[in-house]
Amino acid sequence: MKLINKSNNELRRLLHLSSSINSKKPHRMSRVLLLDKTNFDNSISKSFSLLKERSFVASNLSGLHYLLPLATRSLTKLISIIDQEMEAIGCEKMILPTLGHSGLLKISGKLPDHQQDVFIFKDRHGQDLFLTPTHEEMFCYWLSKEKIFEKQLPIYLYQIASKYRDEARPRSGLLRGKEFMMKDLYSFDATEADSQNSYNRVCQSYQNIFDRLEINVIKVQADPGAIGGNHSHEYHLISDIGEDTIHLCSNCNQGFSEEYIEKQQSNQSKYCDSCNCDLQAKQSIEVGHAFYLATRYTQPFRCFYRSKTNNYSLLQMGSYGLGVTRILASCAEILSTPRQLKWPKQIAPFHVTVIPPKMNSKESNVNQLAEDLAQQLAKYTNADVVIDDRSELTIGYRQVVSKCLGIPVNIIVGKKAQQEIPLFEFSYYRQNHRLDNDKVETIKKDLSLSEIMEEIKLLFPINDEN
Ligand SMILES: [Zn+2]
Repeated sequence: MKLINKSNNELRRLLHLSSSINSKKPHRMSRVLLLDKTNFDNSISKSFSLLKERSFVASNLSGLHYLLPLATRSLTKLISIIDQEMEAIGCEKMILPTLGHSGLLKISGKLPDHQQDVFIFKDRHGQDLFLTPTHEEMFCYWLSKEKIFEKQLPIYLYQIASKYRDEARPRSGLLRGKEFMMKDLYSFDATEADSQNSYNRVCQSYQNIFDRLEINVIKVQADPGAIGGNHSHEYHLISDIGEDTIHLCSNCNQGFSEEYIEKQQSNQSKYCDSCNCDLQAKQSIEVGHAFYLATRYTQPFRCFYRSKTNNYSLLQMGSYGLGVTRILASCAEILSTPRQLKWPKQIAPFHVTVIPPKMNSKESNVNQLAEDLAQQLAKYTNADVVIDDRSELTIGYRQVVSKCLGIPVNIIVGKKAQQEIPLFEFSYYRQNHRLDNDKVETIKKDLSLSEIMEEIKLLFPINDEN
């Protein structure tokens, strides 16, 4: 191609340009499905009642929910962050069946002990099928039939798909359902040392994901439980509505899951494994889990690789889950107030709302300016922009709607846009879980078009990895 002949600098310039201009167009609020909900149901969790009231979710049966278009927008953004971080450590995404033969769960030993948690039924040929709660067995069953060579290792494969659990008491909306979306990754290595290295790489990439969401997720030592294996860690968000308990050391900041503490320490007093100090119990939501499995699954499924010297050895395995819909719901839970829905800015359903003047008002002559501003923002920044084109409604009403949906930036095109150098009213509702859990800092100022472009580029940077 011709590009090869260009100098490196020229190429870099071209690449930079292509990443900062895109074909995105602003979305139009008149086309967003906003349902008229007046019943406020606070009997469920705070976030779930807000999500229901504000057209993000709807319920079907207990533990089964619809993710409406607004929630799907946020979910898509979350998945995109996860995909980028998975790709950065060399993972490949794939799709597995979510239905399998329940005989696989007998090979791994999960049946009959955990039968009550799994949906098992017969198909028309009388085969016992199950809806997958996790995919260790499905991966091992497949890989045991393939020829795996040492030079192909490590193999990192993941999927983002629905998982199923026959919950006795589905609760708190999306936090504990019968069907939920998980990201599950499986690592396969030649040696224990390599597998430990993979484990550490994945844990770091999980940290990167939570950093990008700007949420305080705590990594705790955990008990492997039904999944099995040698050791594991869980990722928790502190929340009063969480059904888990974690124990935190006030001295060295180490955390431990309830099950871990119960297995390790038989006496009543709970103390830190590392420094012997007292532990403090906190209610929490588990959002992720990492298992160092060694040969827990590859042994019963006879999953081998062929070494350079033509010997066969068992693959060393790790498995790593992120509760994708649970992260979405728990972000809303920990950031929102009882009447105000909030998101980490990167996964808000839209990043920026542009509000043009009301129809037939004194300012309606700057309507085109609002259209231009929205177009420019969509085209030249990474932000997901919506223009609230329902100009029969007042500016104030549309501003409230935008805030109710948890959209972090609001730009009003009003009186000052009529000046020779137009100014726009820019509001940013800062929501950083890291800095302060309760305090929301609203930044409000009048900015010119170029100043707004700069602000938005800083708030929603183009990810360097892409
Ligand atoms: Zn300690």
